Amino acid sequence: SEPLLKVENLKKYYPIKSGGFGKVSETVRAVDGVSFSIREGETLGIVGESGCGKSTTGRMIMRLIEPTEGKIMFQGKNIMNLSKRDMRKARKDIQMIFQDPFASLNPRHTVGRIIEEPMIVHKMGNRKQRQKRVEELLELVGLSAYHARRYPHQFSGGQRQRIGIARALAVQPKVIIADEPVSALDVSVQSQVLNLLKDLQKKFNLTFIFIAHDLSVVRHISDSVGVMYLGKIVELSESENLYNHPNHPYTKALLSAVPVPDPEIKTKRIILEGDVPSPAHPPSGCAFHDRCPVAMDICSKERPHLKTLEDGRMVSCHLFD
Ligand code: SF4
Ligand code: MG
Repeated sequence: SEPLLKVENLKKYYPIKSGGFGKVSETVRAVDGVSFSIREGETLGIVGESGCGKSTTGRMIMRLIEPTEGKIMFQGKNIMNLSKRDMRKARKDIQMIFQDPFASLNPRHTVGRIIEEPMIVHKMGNRKQRQKRVEELLELVGLSAYHARRYPHQFSGGQRQRIGIARALAVQPKVIIADEPVSALDVSVQSQVLNLLKDLQKKFNLTFIFIAHDLSVVRHISDSVGVMYLGKIVELSESENLYNHPNHPYTKALLSAVPVPDPEIKTKRIILEGDVPSPAHPPSGCAFHDRCPVAMDICSKERPHLKTLEDGRMVSCHLFD
């Protein structure tokens, strides 16, 4: 079947003014040609270290950040062509959950008001209907109807994320972009929130883009996973394949950093040296070459392209030329 959401060659370039007199001398390629597609009811995980362009990618799909270039096909229509007004309407179908639920909840508003807000924006129901729906939503995310009268500071981090989820669900979206929704939470709370998201996905046939910096977080929720490095997807694959047989050296390094629950399994840890290079000055050739444990001569000279292997997986690395 046709994918519900398809992103083609999405780019975000920022000019940086430097050298005085406002001269534009450099370009940051925060997102540099990202493509993927997701079928209805499925989850795409997007993983990479901070600064690799994951959040920018998510925000561009909402057009909270205007893409420099690319296509965003939602239900067969390119939402890049929508006017500001039509885009506001389209945002009803695509909602976002943020990493820091506290920062994204207005501290002066009651939880009820916060969850009602998107329904007001999209002119859904009258006051009474909306308030009834707020109560239903609170129960749906594991809170109680009476919580509607309380304020965000009266809740724990995990509860605040549940409030953020209730707010995102209020307008009955089809797609939810979750930008590191559990990164700020304790490990025990993380799995509760992940389970809640999985349950809600099943119940409402939701489609998720799930952004995380840790591959272990998206493992059990993703149907497919895209690994990003310096603004590009370096590996994209059906989930189980990616975890069992990672191809790209960067994916392997990320996976080896995940603690293995079974001590019998001894995986060699690959330590990633150094930080992600600045996207303003990406290394020549393969952007990963100066951190790659298996780099070859060609790697600093020629940029590898994302290619599809026989089993349908996509990888961008000269080892697979
Ligand atoms: Fe490593 Fe070369 Fe592959 Fe880049 S292209 S990941 S440097 S082997
Ligand atoms: Mg981020």
